[in-house]
Amino acid sequence: MARIHYLDNAATTKLYPELMDTFQKYYLDVFANPSSLHEAGLMAEKAVLNSRKLVASLIGASEEQIIFTSGASEANNLVIANGAFKRAEPVMITSKIEHSSVKKAINFYAHEHIYYLNNDDNGVIFTDFEDMEIESANLITVIYVNNEIGTIQDVKELIKKAKAKGFKGMFHVDATQAVGKIPVDVKDLDCDFLTASAHKFKGPKGVGFLYCKNPKLVNAMVFGGSQEFGKRAGTENVAGICVMAKALSKSCKNMEKNTEKALTFKKKIADYVKSSEHFDLTIDEDVKQSPFILSVCSDLAPSEVLLHAYADEGIYLSSGSACNSSNPQTSSVLGAIGKAPSPETAVLRISFAADTSMTDIDAFITASDKMISRFKSS
Ligand code: PMP
Repeated sequence: MARIHYLDNAATTKLYPELMDTFQKYYLDVFANPSSLHEAGLMAEKAVLNSRKLVASLIGASEEQIIFTSGASEANNLVIANGAFKRAEPVMITSKIEHSSVKKAINFYAHEHIYYLNNDDNGVIFTDFEDMEIESANLITVIYVNNEIGTIQDVKELIKKAKAKGFKGMFHVDATQAVGKIPVDVKDLDCDFLTASAHKFKGPKGVGFLYCKNPKLVNAMVFGGSQEFGKRAGTENVAGICVMAKALSKSCKNMEKNTEKALTFKKKIADYVKSSEHFDLTIDEDVKQSPFILSVCSDLAPSEVLLHAYADEGIYLSSGSACNSSNPQTSSVLGAIGKAPSPETAVLRISFAADTSMTDIDAFITASDKMISRFKSS
């Protein structure tokens, strides 16, 4: 078996190994239920509180504005359900390039009154809000960094324009591929909600958070105990929350260094791709995009075939969203930018993290040369 070169960090990242000790601490030592009134419970409660403060400080929020969840899917659903609770026929505005946890929740709750912002062929969302009932909309929800193609939206401008056009509802930002990777400040963005997931920034799976500008306006979706200010019942994932806070702190502290490294990787692959007649960049290089995601198209073989061929060489990639991996030819994001692969062509998503090395990048390039010989001679 060839050495593994993991280049699928937009799907998930490896936990910071040094944070395993924190897991151990909160499962074996400080393991009590934070709602218990004894000393051990109070220690667990304090650990959650400190993590809440840390997470809040890293995105420019205050602690009572953070609701811990099981990840971004749950946080996105909570926001959209709340948008829908406001009236019988909710009006929602979104883009055509959202993650399925936003797209499907909107279809479920808003069904009739959904308006889609248009985008160009690089996935940049237009800010004109033409032909939509913006004044009566309950919720606008937009992805910050696209998980398939990496396009970064000018969210601040979108919020400003929406308000200028008379929008009085709530603005939600799905920042799952942004938090811990690019600077995120909720005050600067002036959004009402923002969601994130720990496993995208080298934290654990199954934990994330929702920022709410005004948490009093949030209705619970999961009822039970009074955890998370009564907005999300269930015994807290103490270890997950504490490890997430530390992972976010580490990612934010090293953001500049990680970004610089990722940009070097991205450039090396982009230069290779541009010099090859069998590969191309999915979006233009001069578009504002994540340093950690590079989408590449190829005429060598269908996505699934090419992904397996790379995997045989020890290179782990995705075509687009891991949540849509069973059918890589039908990505709605690629469809919305007019770049859906044909049954004979592929789109590959190559994504980096702090532990990616130049050896991984060189291995991808060597494997790509092999793909050309293999598929073009067959
Ligand atoms: N939004 C975006 C943009 C994502 O990339 C993901 C993860 N692929 C999610 C939401 C959902 O995150 P999770 O699976 O951790 O709930």
